[in-house]
Amino acid sequence: MQNLLHNLNPEQLAAVTLPAQSALILAGAGSGKTRVLTTRIAWLIQTGQISPNGVLAVTFTNKSAKEMLMRLSAMLPINTRGMWIGTFHGLCNRLLRAHHRDAGLPQTFQILDSGDQLSFIKRLLKANNIDDEKFPPKTLMYFINSAKDQGLRAAQVDAYDDFNRKMVALYDLYDLQCQREGVVDFAELLLRTYELLSRNQPLREHYQSRFKHILVDEFQDTNDLQYKWLKLMAGTQAAVFAVGDDDQSIYAFRGANVGNMSAFEKEFQVENLIKLEQNYRSHGHILDAANALIEHNSQRLGKNLRTDAGHGELVRIFEASSDIQEAQWIAEEAKNLIRDGYDQSQIAILYRSNAQSRVIEHALFSANLPYRVYGGQRYFDRAEVKHAIAYLQLMDNPHNDSAFMRVVNFPTRGIGARSIEQLQDAAKQYGISLYAAVPYVSGKAGSSLASFVKLIEGARFETQHLPLPEMVQVVLDVSTLLNHYQSEKEGTERIENLEQLVNAATLFVAEEGFGHDAPALHGPASRPAGQLITNGAAPIEIIDADAALPTVMSPLSAFLSHASLEAGDNQAQVGQDALQLMTVHAAKGLEFDAVFIGGLEEGLFPHENSTQEESGVEEERRLMYVAITRARQRLYMTFSQTRMLHGQTRYNLRSRFFDELPEASLKWLSPKIQTNWFARPKSAWDDAPELGANAIAQSLQSQSQSVWRIGQNVAHAKFGEGVIVNIEGSGSNARAHINFGKFGMKLLDLSIAKLDRI
Ligand code: ATP
Ligand code: MG
Repeated sequence: MQNLLHNLNPEQLAAVTLPAQSALILAGAGSGKTRVLTTRIAWLIQTGQISPNGVLAVTFTNKSAKEMLMRLSAMLPINTRGMWIGTFHGLCNRLLRAHHRDAGLPQTFQILDSGDQLSFIKRLLKANNIDDEKFPPKTLMYFINSAKDQGLRAAQVDAYDDFNRKMVALYDLYDLQCQREGVVDFAELLLRTYELLSRNQPLREHYQSRFKHILVDEFQDTNDLQYKWLKLMAGTQAAVFAVGDDDQSIYAFRGANVGNMSAFEKEFQVENLIKLEQNYRSHGHILDAANALIEHNSQRLGKNLRTDAGHGELVRIFEASSDIQEAQWIAEEAKNLIRDGYDQSQIAILYRSNAQSRVIEHALFSANLPYRVYGGQRYFDRAEVKHAIAYLQLMDNPHNDSAFMRVVNFPTRGIGARSIEQLQDAAKQYGISLYAAVPYVSGKAGSSLASFVKLIEGARFETQHLPLPEMVQVVLDVSTLLNHYQSEKEGTERIENLEQLVNAATLFVAEEGFGHDAPALHGPASRPAGQLITNGAAPIEIIDADAALPTVMSPLSAFLSHASLEAGDNQAQVGQDALQLMTVHAAKGLEFDAVFIGGLEEGLFPHENSTQEESGVEEERRLMYVAITRARQRLYMTFSQTRMLHGQTRYNLRSRFFDELPEASLKWLSPKIQTNWFARPKSAWDDAPELGANAIAQSLQSQSQSVWRIGQNVAHAKFGEGVIVNIEGSGSNARAHINFGKFGMKLLDLSIAKLDRI
């Protein structure tokens, strides 16, 4: 038996070996929270306190769930397949499949990812003649999701004005339509499970007595419904072990409620609040920067981090003149790191918004550096892949109207807008799905629609005994998708992506333990899992839902939910031999030897949408804290004077966060204050050799032009105080665009205008 505990510090050891009571581990980034949680599961099993199927563990992403399972199988001689470790969504999906009848869903219900959800809503508005300017689809989607995240059905939402009353009515209509089509959105997965367990006492008690230990990672980012869900699962008996860091709560915009931490402490009578303050990830200066930054937040539960790793290197800061220069500099610096022995996959480039990646990608590409972008378009989100998935969805559940609409005329088969309208009218009239409404359409439209139905049913019939990968292959052919892209000029990549789907299916059945020959369409392989068989009110037997997919769904249904849930998973997969590019949100929980954080400018990071309110800025600061604490040894922060974003050149000030970092931990690779080039203290250029050659040249050029700089605060006799937002020309021709607040933007000749620096 392995000694699981020998690598833990005393606080971690205490946390891992706590008695079976609820506990909260409140600790900063890199202090070993995730490690403690995983080790505790192993320890509970190893010491015989619980069997593997008595554990319920919730992780934030599918990827962390996989990693946890891998670690567990390395620590223990057990088969981890079928253990209840997953995301809230993944676990609810399994529960709902197992108890679909009790939950009022078809066994082949399908999951709408957020893209599907939006087009679903657009279609709903159109079908009901609702003005989408008055009721924008995105607003409605947000309305519905936030109601569901709070656990509220339409009837429970308080509508205080006409607009809200209409939104509530649309929410109701939306739910009805989902039910009709047999589809559920992400929030519905949770809400439906919650409702199922709340009203079904035997089922609830069954799971409550099964899961004696519930463990939750990244607890700070749970929303209200998730918290209620946990309470319901836990009942009065389970020990809930929650780990989290209030300073890393970064999903308030999606309804995460950091208040759940204090609520948990009270409601679960937590006697054991353990703080871990030793950080094992980052060197000292990086940690000092993180600690100093987060101190500027007022709403904190309070804790600090220390490290034994020594100060390490200073945090490097670079100011670029343009986003292009910034990207080139990052590429050059990344090259240096690789030359110095850094592993490519251990270098991450983080940014606040996806839109920033394009310029960086271009620079990396030009520098011949391999990279991977995460959180941009995901494989399962690509149009061609979505098309193929839609065919498979229709074979599994023909009443999914989104899938129907996506491919009924793709590739084109002469079914025009007019035919679709007729079909929609019929579906509306009879309150049925589009697929079911086909026989009600007559004439030419009717016959082309009927041949589409034939195609789907034919494919279903032809593949019913085939394993999933072969089924996918057949579908690619009979849908004529492959053919279609073959004739397209730039179709090669799309064809590759489509063929990739066969591989994805092969990998999936192997990983999830479906027999290689198991027919894709056939239901649960081993037993009719999870049905609660009731006789009047009294349960006769509960056949337990195993978490292993083959016991609760067919290979095809499982693969389709995997495609939707995976598409919703924004997180990176470390380990590919390439530089790692991602948003800060996607980097949560991960760590890298070297990290670049780009675009640290006002309006970008902190994001402009957040700066109106202090709570918004605090959330951005937590995001920045997450970014900083991803780094083990080396950290770079960069910003730029100008940036092209959404087709416009923006002149940004450097992020306020720089002013909140401890000067002693920073190393400015370009002079921090450039207002007076000649009087600048020599030390500011001591680092010049670290700059790439191009960067030095460009930097020198821009510096020698003027004693003025973008971002400089100035005072003018007539216009008052302003900020320089751009400088054109040089020497005696230099002119500046200055934003004078209420006097607006002025273009002034710098050699003439009487300006004072302030
Ligand atoms: P985050 O808040 O970013 O999710 P975390 O608190 O979950 O961080 P972990 O990812 O569990 O932290 O641990 C951070 C790093 O420190 C990991 O590489 C982990 O293996 C290592 N680590 C944790 N505890 C110890 C220990 N006692 N000895 C050595 N290394 C440790
Ligand atoms: Mg963690």
